[in-house]
Amino acid sequence: MEIFKFFSYKDILDILGVSVIVYTVLYFLRITKGMQILKGLILIAIVWAIAFFLDLKAVSTIFEKFWTVGLFSLIVIFQPEIRKALTRLGQATKFSPSSSVEERVIERIVRACSFMSERQIGALIVIERNQDLEPLLEGCVKLDAIVSIELIITLFDPLTPLHDGAVVIKGDRIAYASCVLPLSKSQDIPKKYGTRHRAGLGISEESDAVSIIVSEETGEISVAVGGKLHRNLDPEGLKLLLFKELGVNK
Ligand code: ATP
Ligand code: MG
Repeated sequence: MEIFKFFSYKDILDILGVSVIVYTVLYFLRITKGMQILKGLILIAIVWAIAFFLDLKAVSTIFEKFWTVGLFSLIVIFQPEIRKALTRLGQATKFSPSSSVEERVIERIVRACSFMSERQIGALIVIERNQDLEPLLEGCVKLDAIVSIELIITLFDPLTPLHDGAVVIKGDRIAYASCVLPLSKSQDIPKKYGTRHRAGLGISEESDAVSIIVSEETGEISVAVGGKLHRNLDPEGLKLLLFKELGVNK
């Protein structure tokens, strides 16, 4: 055929190669997930190898330019991914290990309690440990939400439907809100404490759970563990006690 006088099979391969490169680059720009990037790079390497061995002029020229301009383009295109990776690397090489789930949950509980204490918002938070609390709870509303300062405070807002009763935390989740707990019958508890404190103490007598009580009347923060009430804690004292009880070494 006439056309093959001007075009060799190499030229056709060359054009095909350029198409693959253009397609891959466009594909790259659209999808920036790890595996796709890897597949794209492998494809480019294969085309490059073929072009090199068959001495395809146009494809080889693109690759020559690619390494000078392309490398910088890649850095610009993948800047968010590179930044994320570098940030992670920075965190991984810090001396102190990153905070554990327990530590983060405790920090959030302490900050929420401190906020509620300052504003005299009554609260009762139970943290489950080894023993399953479900048989001891009544009337709970299931939540299964991530523990956050804002959510804890919102759940005890007296103008909202779930504020009455206790919030129960399992791991890093707020499992339930509005739970009715067993009341302590202890005679040792001072008269000034009412049913919120008796409920917090009650669950600590009947299980290994730790409960935190914020008084609506005084803003005082107390913690009940193993039937004992630790009274009048400041936020730092609350944090240290929770770290100790929940096995966070600091
Ligand atoms: P405060 O210092 O906040 O007034 P208190 O110990 O004096 O606390 P009360 O004034 O009786 O206790 O608080 C009543 C609130 O305690 C109720 O509105 C309810 O939210 C909570 N509460 C009472 N009984 C229980 C229970 N069995 N389980 C869970 N929460 C309870
Ligand atoms: Mg009261």
